[in-house]
Amino acid sequence: MSNAAPIKAENLSKHYGDVKALQRLDLTLETGEIFGFLGPNGAGKTTMIRTILDEIRPTEGRSSILGFDSRADSVEIRRHIGYLPSGTVLYPNLTGRDTLTYFANLRGGVDWSYVGELAERLNADLTKKIGNLSSGNRQKVGLIQAFMNRPELLIMDEPSAGLDPLMQSEFHAILQELAAEGRTVFLSSHTLSEVQLVADRVGIIRHGRLVALESLAEMRSKAMRKIDVQFDGPARESGLAGVAGIRDIKVDRDRATLSFDGRMADLLKTLAEGNNVLDIRTREADLDEIFLTYYRDDETDRTEAS
Ligand code: ATP
Repeated sequence: MSNAAPIKAENLSKHYGDVKALQRLDLTLETGEIFGFLGPNGAGKTTMIRTILDEIRPTEGRSSILGFDSRADSVEIRRHIGYLPSGTVLYPNLTGRDTLTYFANLRGGVDWSYVGELAERLNADLTKKIGNLSSGNRQKVGLIQAFMNRPELLIMDEPSAGLDPLMQSEFHAILQELAAEGRTVFLSSHTLSEVQLVADRVGIIRHGRLVALESLAEMRSKAMRKIDVQFDGPARESGLAGVAGIRDIKVDRDRATLSFDGRMADLLKTLAEGNNVLDIRTREADLDEIFLTYYRDDETDRTEAS
């Protein structure tokens, strides 16, 4: 595996007339991570991918993949990556197997036993013509195409489009195995639920700008938790008012429910001081809320951007 950054974008911008599809984007991926590139439709995800793969030219800035310059070394780059474009267009008259043979030939051959293994895991029928497959089954052929040369870096634009939940989880399992082998995955998605399941780190893009970049664990630690506390007698909430991060506290005799985004240690200490705590339940962090805060106020952002 290469020691160079799997993807490095520096000050990358792409404008289509007045539309600023990418705005001064800086991003460096780490080897072996699954990176979720998250943003709503039109945020600039596809533009970013097509720019770093030299399918379109940046207005400003530069990028490299595995140490190769996106523009000067675009042919070399293709040898090292697997790429699933958004809404993959495949030839309707070719079968899945013919399609994969075509891509295999472009790459100078592949390990067909690995292709067979992938087809089995994804339950892909390679004998049917692409034109006769459902969109989800077509997507499976696209996925196998991206995986089949065991690339150092996978770039996938909305990969689970059309896959049923069972296949999505098999697909995620494959991604995790590849990452465990030191391969890197760049996964573009507009659905938080998918990124949340599989990514180590998340970048949120909005109107062409990277508005957040952090690990999923960091994001989780910031998210609002819902907490239920059971006491062995009437609750005393006197000290709780002083704990930073408590919202919507409700006390009903020996139970308290609250929303909390502060330091858990502070909360536990204060709860234990005045009360005998029998049980605490915390519910899954509400990441949706965090993402919504980045996606809200679209109008404000447009004014800023212009
Ligand atoms: P989606 O998930 O819908 O594909 P995306 O995040 O990939 O969304 P892009 O396709 O990168 O978003 O589009 C970013 C912005 O650039 C959008 O406003 C889009 O309309 C605009 N855009 C993309 N391609 C072109 C083009 N060839 N000409 C003009 N504008 C374009």
